[in-house]
Amino acid sequence: MIEITNENIAKATAKARQTKPLVKVVEFRTYQVTNRETGAKYEVVFSKIGNRKYAECNCKAGTQGKHLCYHVGASIAMHIVLAEQTIKV
Ligand SMILES: [Zn+2]
Repeated sequence: MIEITNENIAKATAKARQTKPLVKVVEFRTYQVTNRETGAKYEVVFSKIGNRKYAECNCKAGTQGKHLCYHVGASIAMHIVLAEQTIKV
C-alpha cells in the first residue's frame, strides 16, 4: 500500500496519459487496468485512512511498494468522480 501524494500521483497520471491503459470498475474502490499492448490485467485498490489516501496495485512496481504505478494514475480520475458521487448519496 502506497500513500498517494500530489507529487507521486502527478507522475503516475503523466505516465498513464502516455500508455493509455483501459480502466474498468470492478466495484467501488477497485479497478481493473488493462495494458492495451500486452493485454496484461492488474487490479488497483484505493483506500482511505483518516485524511490519508492509499493505493495498491498487484503489478510488479505496485507490489514492491516503491512508487505509485501508472495503473493507479490511470484509475484515480475515475475513482475521484465515483467517490464524490458516493459521498453525496
Ligand atoms: Zn500497477
